[in-house]
Amino acid sequence: MNNSTTPAADWLLGPAGPQRWRVTQSLLALGAYALLALVLTWQWRLDLISTRAALPLGVAGLGCGVVFAGLMRSGLNQVLHRRFGCESSLTLPQSIAGLLGAVWVYLVTGPVRGAALGLLVLVVVFAMFRLGPREALGLAAAALLLLGAASRWLVLSDAFHFPAEVEVLNLAYTTVVLAGVALLAMRVTQLREQHQQQRVALQHALARISELATRDELTGLPNRRAILDQLATETARQARKKLPLALALIDLDHFKRINDEHGHAGGDQVLRGFAHRVESELRGGDVMARWGGEEFLLMLPDTSIEAAQQCLERLRERLRQTPFDEVAPGLSLTFSAGVTGCLGQGDIDSAIERADQAMYRAKQAGRDRIEAS
Ligand code: GH3
Ligand code: MG
Ligand code: MG
Repeated sequence: MNNSTTPAADWLLGPAGPQRWRVTQSLLALGAYALLALVLTWQWRLDLISTRAALPLGVAGLGCGVVFAGLMRSGLNQVLHRRFGCESSLTLPQSIAGLLGAVWVYLVTGPVRGAALGLLVLVVVFAMFRLGPREALGLAAAALLLLGAASRWLVLSDAFHFPAEVEVLNLAYTTVVLAGVALLAMRVTQLREQHQQQRVALQHALARISELATRDELTGLPNRRAILDQLATETARQARKKLPLALALIDLDHFKRINDEHGHAGGDQVLRGFAHRVESELRGGDVMARWGGEEFLLMLPDTSIEAAQQCLERLRERLRQTPFDEVAPGLSLTFSAGVTGCLGQGDIDSAIERADQAMYRAKQAGRDRIEAS
């Protein structure tokens, strides 16, 4: 693809993107039509074609190239796409024009008309890279029909210069080549589909890897790495807006006992239930992550230390009101938490350390409480 962004290239091809690629393609097609006109002129100078036959063909070819290039460069192809759902590259109309041109060459170039068969095949080959297999096959069939009609007309109009046997053989060879092209088209479609499937599978795998890298598998909460990333983003935003940000480190009380009394699976269920209960109490923007084991880190943007304490009191109340009946009837759970304010990106590590110390004080003071630092 042409990624050149010089002013001249921009002027000629338009801004970068898929449309620029279409413009480039249409200009290449125009170049091919110009080459055809040159070869026709040469043939005319050798006296192998009359002016009456060569001129309309050369002019029509160039005109066709100019019209398609103009449609692309002016963006009219996109208007046609939006209004009538035509494919933006106008592959089908361009291919049909190419086929008609090739058959026209076949009709008027007399002794060198065999070369026109190559042009015909070339048009189908170009088209099959963009069209579906059914359209490509249809185009190949149309090419054969047109060629058959042209051959018939030549035989009927001048059987001496265009013997029926030669015309039939030309048609037969072209059929063989187009059959090969059709097979190739099917293979190209197959490869294209495989490529597409692999791309989708890769996207899913990437999404899954990113999920695994940022989520705690047991609770579904963001993990330590994810909340540290979010803290970096959030502190940058807070600093710009000069708003407070609170952090709280939560540690479940006597969790070992829960494991001892209800088994590790019961403990796991309590961890999941705790995450679920807290998440349903938080505002949008608040994030709780599993910091490790039975410890959780809570990030509360736009929140003062006092407001964060109130939020944690609400969580304590919620836990009091909803025991873990799913694990054992009436099973209650408490936590101890340390709250602090984070002053910016450079303060993240120290803020977590302060919250940890405050949490430790809460444990020392008898657990089931919140300490601020
Ligand atoms: P404290 O009130 O002092 O925090 O007491 P504690 O028993 O909660 O503290 P401690 O840190 O001694 O024990 C934490 C326990 O949490 C020990 C560990 O087996 C358990 N734990 C950590 N991760 C998991 C987990 O993923 N699942 C389960 N079921 N238990 C876990
Ligand atoms: Mg702990
Ligand atoms: Mg604990």
